[in-house]
Amino acid sequence: MKQILTTNRMQSFKMCRRKHYFEYELGLRQQVDARSLRITTAGRAALHALQHERSLVAALDALRPFYEPCPPATDRREWDYERETVACLIAGYRWRWGEPLTMIARPKRFQLPVINPKTGAASTIWDTAGQWDGIAKMPNGQTVVVKHRFTAEDLSSEGSFWTRQQLDHRVTHLLDAGRQLGHTLDGVLLDVIRKPLIRPGTLPMLDEAGHKVVIDRSGHRVFNPNGQPRQTAHAAKGFTLQTRPMTPLEWGEKLLEDIGQRPEFYYARQVISRRDEEIAEMQSEAWEVQQTIRDAQNKQRWFKTVSRDTCSLCSFLTLCTSQFDPQQGTPRGFVRLDDVHPELQGEFDRPKGSCCQPPSATRPEDVIATPVQTARPTGHPERFTPANEASQTLPTSTIPEDDIPF
Ligand code: SF4
Repeated sequence: MKQILTTNRMQSFKMCRRKHYFEYELGLRQQVDARSLRITTAGRAALHALQHERSLVAALDALRPFYEPCPPATDRREWDYERETVACLIAGYRWRWGEPLTMIARPKRFQLPVINPKTGAASTIWDTAGQWDGIAKMPNGQTVVVKHRFTAEDLSSEGSFWTRQQLDHRVTHLLDAGRQLGHTLDGVLLDVIRKPLIRPGTLPMLDEAGHKVVIDRSGHRVFNPNGQPRQTAHAAKGFTLQTRPMTPLEWGEKLLEDIGQRPEFYYARQVISRRDEEIAEMQSEAWEVQQTIRDAQNKQRWFKTVSRDTCSLCSFLTLCTSQFDPQQGTPRGFVRLDDVHPELQGEFDRPKGSCCQPPSATRPEDVIATPVQTARPTGHPERFTPANEASQTLPTSTIPEDDIPF
């Protein structure tokens, strides 16, 4: 069986051979990275349902298998917070962009030969692989490969995210693969969702009359001289406001409120194209990189790349700075994957849709899709329910309360 060269793998190897060794030779991932991967995988499944079934309810249903049941030894509250986070991001996406994209081909995983640019021969050791989230016809007539991304990066013009996409081979690879598989394409629609920076917080505990509860150092409730319960803390006097963690539903309302106030923080799209020379450069680079990885495998040489510009003190720092012996099993805080390309797992092998229209004469770079929401919803998350799904009104949060173990 051939080895798989994804653009993520190429990137890892080019960044630091030692990092590539941990990730792709040993299959290690930090547990926090596994969480990030789960959010991306679940979110993309929900977006597939939204795009192809054109229903927010179907999209939220598609999330359920990823969060049922809660795995053993997992913090149930954190698990439910995560599920609610993804659900709110999908509901906010629907509100932000309105009608789903017009898809003309389904999500697909592809595997293609790595070609020697001098001889045209295919590598007998490596294939390249990747996946896209569909092929869409844009309102301006362009045909694009759709790629959903979840990121923690700044999506505004002040950040470097979009500038870097102009150089990133992951975009080039998708466009090249789509064309090799027979699609006539104008570019890649990068459809990006930013993960929240805000976190679930705490709320004051209330008594039966709806009053906040403040206690003194000995744990007794504090009352004002007029007999009313005190409503504020006072550190110097030792008065403490009693609080409790938000429920997942309350966290969902907080997140939706934030999405409504600043949708541009969470959602951005651009169509990006590539010149033929850029595609040829990427193909040539893939050939060179697979040869170099093969050489490293044969010699078991996995150099560290350490400088301020190249070593990000990545998630393998603790292994990198210790005498880690892979024979000793999976280190604490990591998981070992059977499939070192988990991002390729999913529902990608459905039949191809029909394609395509001739490309537009204009280069489709930097076409930014226009958001459709007209008024900022505030307060109740039901306002996020699209008008054409009004009969499928969401509950007070995106996950029915019966599912929440409180
Ligand atoms: S900590 Fe630096 S040198 Fe070590 S694996 Fe990560 S990127 Fe490479």
